[in-house]
Amino acid sequence: MNCRGCGRDTVELVVDLGEQTAADYFPPATDPTEDPRWPLELWLCRACTLAQLGPVRPLLPEMPLAVESATSIAHAGSSVRALLARHPELDGATVAEFASHHGGSWLPSLRAAGCRDAGEGEPADLVVDVHGLAHEPDLAASLALRAQRLAPGGRLLLEFHHLLPLVEQCQFDTIRHGHWAYLSLGAIQELAAPLELRVTEAVQVPLFGGSLLVTLRSGSTAGSTAGSADETVGPSVAAVLRAERDAGLADPHRYRILQDTARRTATVLRDYLAGQRDRGRTVLGYGAPSKAPVLLDVSRVGPELLAFTVDAAPGKHGRRIPGAGVPIRPIEELRAARPDVVLILTWDIADEIVAQLEAGGGWGAEYVVPLPEPHQVGRPATGARPSIAVEERHG
Ligand SMILES: [Zn+2]
Repeated sequence: MNCRGCGRDTVELVVDLGEQTAADYFPPATDPTEDPRWPLELWLCRACTLAQLGPVRPLLPEMPLAVESATSIAHAGSSVRALLARHPELDGATVAEFASHHGGSWLPSLRAAGCRDAGEGEPADLVVDVHGLAHEPDLAASLALRAQRLAPGGRLLLEFHHLLPLVEQCQFDTIRHGHWAYLSLGAIQELAAPLELRVTEAVQVPLFGGSLLVTLRSGSTAGSTAGSADETVGPSVAAVLRAERDAGLADPHRYRILQDTARRTATVLRDYLAGQRDRGRTVLGYGAPSKAPVLLDVSRVGPELLAFTVDAAPGKHGRRIPGAGVPIRPIEELRAARPDVVLILTWDIADEIVAQLEAGGGWGAEYVVPLPEPHQVGRPATGARPSIAVEERHG
């Protein structure tokens, strides 16, 4: 296999999560067909440091049934306001967006802020890609396409789930079929240079458990003679690159540690759920995100430990999480069942979910998120993040 970023044959297998179902394909709950599986592997390129999926391509289509979270919608608006505040010269700029089904479109906010859509073939002062790039199997071609849309001196904004928190906080369920690239600033910088794109800014944002918003400017030297202040590379770039180096993102060994940690975490989650069941306590799930199939499968959790989960997306109701087979129901059924524990599978928006379920006073449930290790969140009365791992092992 050749690298999806630089095209070289310098890639090696670093994380093996076994055979996994398609992440965004939710079969009807009563469908007796076994969910098909494909090897889910993370590979690392020694040349450009891009972390990426292996060569196997699932044959099922993705079903973008998800409802966007309030957190994600608010993020699009606040990101655009912050961008325009930093760069008032973008007022009236031409924009082009490479859409994705995560993270929301920035176009409505950009239009409201005075930007105008670039016409077909018209170069854009601003090209925006919010959580789109990782879905492209051919990263090199996709990045080149975005670069070609730029006017000379234009800005390319890329927001993606950042590899750094994935590795440091063991977010192994983020590795899933359909997300072909796991992006770091180091890899982006390496792959953008031949396209005459320069990284000028990198901002860490909390969306999806840790994202990175990267600004790249087109034109290696041409056009910079005006010496405008924003041609300089901000200190954020060096800081993020240093953090990535310190975390060992280019080191294959670091990913073997990630795999071992993921297996341990998965065992703790399973033991925790089995312990709750043995004590007669009910646990139900919240959320049916595309990361749930991997989390539940690696943890060997099915309906015997998690009778059902609920989701805000009506399109997912009556379906099941593939592989694990956990049924997906409307949120009202969770409220009606009043479980002792709610396991939040959409852990990246846990605050939003706890607030939503507690809005009417709640029923005294404990809220648990699975990663980086299963622990309680929310309800201040329960104290500071007691570690379930410790409680279960000694309890
Ligand atoms: Zn490479």
